Amino acid sequence: MMPNSMFLGLGYAFTVMIVMAFLLNRGMAGRKAAIGAAASTAIVGGLLLGGVPDPVTQYLQVFRGLSVGQVPVVPLVGLLLLTAIALVSGRLFCGHACPLGAAQELMSRVTERKVDITRFRPRTVRGAFTALMAAAAVAAPFVLSANPFRFYGLQFALAATVAFVAVLAASAVVYRPWCRLLCPFGAISEVASRRSVLRLRRQPGCSDCGRCVRVCPTEQPVPDGSMSECYLCGRCVDACRKGSLAYGRKGR
Ligand code: SF4
Ligand code: SF4
Repeated sequence: MMPNSMFLGLGYAFTVMIVMAFLLNRGMAGRKAAIGAAASTAIVGGLLLGGVPDPVTQYLQVFRGLSVGQVPVVPLVGLLLLTAIALVSGRLFCGHACPLGAAQELMSRVTERKVDITRFRPRTVRGAFTALMAAAAVAAPFVLSANPFRFYGLQFALAATVAFVAVLAASAVVYRPWCRLLCPFGAISEVASRRSVLRLRRQPGCSDCGRCVRVCPTEQPVPDGSMSECYLCGRCVDACRKGSLAYGRKGR
C-alpha cells in the first residue's frame, strides 16, 4: 500500500467519524445515515484507497515483526491509535470508518431477520481466533493472505477474495459475522470500549419500553450496559419513539 493511501485513508476515517459522532450526538444518525456512511466508507476507504485503515493487517504485522526480532513501528502506532480512538469513542471506527465493517453493514440490509449467535459466546470465539491469528502470523505467515481486508487492494488474490465473499455471504444471515466472531481488532476494541467516554446512552425521557433492545442485532442498549458491541448501526435510534438515545458523555 502506498503511504499516500494510508494517510488519505486515515484522513477519510477521521472525517467520517467526526461527522457521524456529531449526527449521533444530535440524535440524527439513524439507519439511513449509517447506511450512507457505510456506502461511502466501502467506496472511499475500500475500493478507492485499497482497504485502509486495516487493523487486521496491522495486528498481524506486529506479531510477525516481533517474531523475527523487529519492532514494527508503523503497524504498532496504527494499532495503538485505533485503540486509543476506541477508548474515547467506543466502536465509532468499527461502526462507520472500517472498510470491512462497512461491507458487512451494507450486506446486513439483505434481510433484517438474522440468526442469533449470542448464545454461541461470540466474544469467546473471537478471543480464541485472535490468539490463533497471532500464532499463525508467527508460525505460518502464508495463512495471512486470507485476510479479507486484502480483497480491497484489487490484486484479486484468491484466498483474500474467497474470504471476503464468504464474509459478505454470511453477513446476509448473521449481523457482522467477521466483526463479532473473528476480527482481532474487534476483540481489542471491544475491551477498550467497555468504559469509553463516548457511547450511545439513554437520555432523560426514556420510558424503558424496550423497543431499542428488541431491534438491536447485538442486544446492546440495556440500561447501564457497556455498549462495547454497539456498532452504532442506528436501528435503535430509529426505533425509539421518544428520541431518547444519543451518543455522548452523559445519559440519564
Ligand atoms: S471489528 Fe474488525 S472488521 Fe469489524 S469493523 Fe471493527 S476493525 Fe473492522
Ligand atoms: S445499540 Fe444495537 S441497534 Fe443501537 S446502534 Fe448499537 S448495535 Fe445498533
